Amino acid sequence: MSEQKRITDIGPPKYDIAWTPFIKENYGKWLYHEELAPGELLHVSETGAKLWTIRIAHTRIMSTLAIRDLAAIADEFCDGMLRFTTRNNVEFMVSDESKIQPLKDKLKADGFVIGGTGPGITNIVHTQGWIHCHTPAIDASGIVKAVMDELFEYFTEKRLPNKLRISLACCLNMCGAVHCSDVSILGVHRKPPLIEHDRLINVCEIPTTIASCPTAAIRPYNFEDEAGEKVKSVQVNNERCMFCGNCYTMCPAMPLADPEGDGVALWVGGKISNARSMPKFSKLAIPFLPNNPPRWPEVVDEVKNIVEVYAAGARPYERMGEWIDRIGWEEFFSLTGIEFTHFHIDDYRFAMTTWRSTTQFKFTE
Ligand code: SF4
Ligand code: SF4
Repeated sequence: MSEQKRITDIGPPKYDIAWTPFIKENYGKWLYHEELAPGELLHVSETGAKLWTIRIAHTRIMSTLAIRDLAAIADEFCDGMLRFTTRNNVEFMVSDESKIQPLKDKLKADGFVIGGTGPGITNIVHTQGWIHCHTPAIDASGIVKAVMDELFEYFTEKRLPNKLRISLACCLNMCGAVHCSDVSILGVHRKPPLIEHDRLINVCEIPTTIASCPTAAIRPYNFEDEAGEKVKSVQVNNERCMFCGNCYTMCPAMPLADPEGDGVALWVGGKISNARSMPKFSKLAIPFLPNNPPRWPEVVDEVKNIVEVYAAGARPYERMGEWIDRIGWEEFFSLTGIEFTHFHIDDYRFAMTTWRSTTQFKFTE
């Protein structure tokens, strides 16, 4: 069969197209890797070849000037190649040991921070927030900056029982990894959309707007306004609305952002790894915290509290979810001082506990 060329940009690119030549040569030959210090990894191949990685913190949204700075460092030390991780870290890889110290010195001199590997906190993966998306309940980069400023030492030096992944999604459409992170910061809307009847028919298609609602809460609504003009619009059944914002994506005359209604929910205990125990979905810890820019103190305090209680109580290698499973949720709420409310009781009929979340199988005869 002749090889077909990709004709769309849908889906991720094939994993090996961005490999460096050194990684390509050693594909399938890696023997082991170790963390030499926070932010410094060593991979050893069966051929004896070694690859050192220096990881620095960076931002998800960066200027072209910042990218040029990074590229210049990669040109000087790494044959022009670098790697962006999924959590917005930047990794510089060298196969020549003599380049490591000069590379680290250059990074430090330029103000970059080395860290983010092993049993600590790496960069926070997050979504677009106010800078780019139209449906956020909260900002993304701003909260991430405030939280990470407080937890900075866990990136550079302080160690935890195991790695701790934090993520943020600014609405429950969830372009982040909040479903499966140790601590997840999720923007939530709590009010149904407003309907701007006077302009809806001019900026929206009514059938597609109705079809966009996953709970069938929107229906056509025709009425006469005060001037006796016939108006074609839609109505929302508030009882059915789950504040997802899908309708606003289809119809800009249905905004649902609200300074008081919108806020932050914190979720805990998720993980993607299937080491030792199955992958876990994050579960609700705090249903609502105020959306309080520019430094979101309530969110920062609660995240820090959860991290510190975990750090003090978990056994070595226990992830957040494994620790909670061992001590029980009752003890988690008691140790963290978080109030248990009726919002924590999951009555959704497709509850996440019933979803298959692992690649681990057990074959029986
Ligand atoms: Fe937009 Fe929601 Fe994604 Fe944030 S999580 S970028 S608000 S769709
Ligand atoms: Fe439907 Fe979501 Fe719009 Fe509510 S916010 S009306 S559930 S699409």
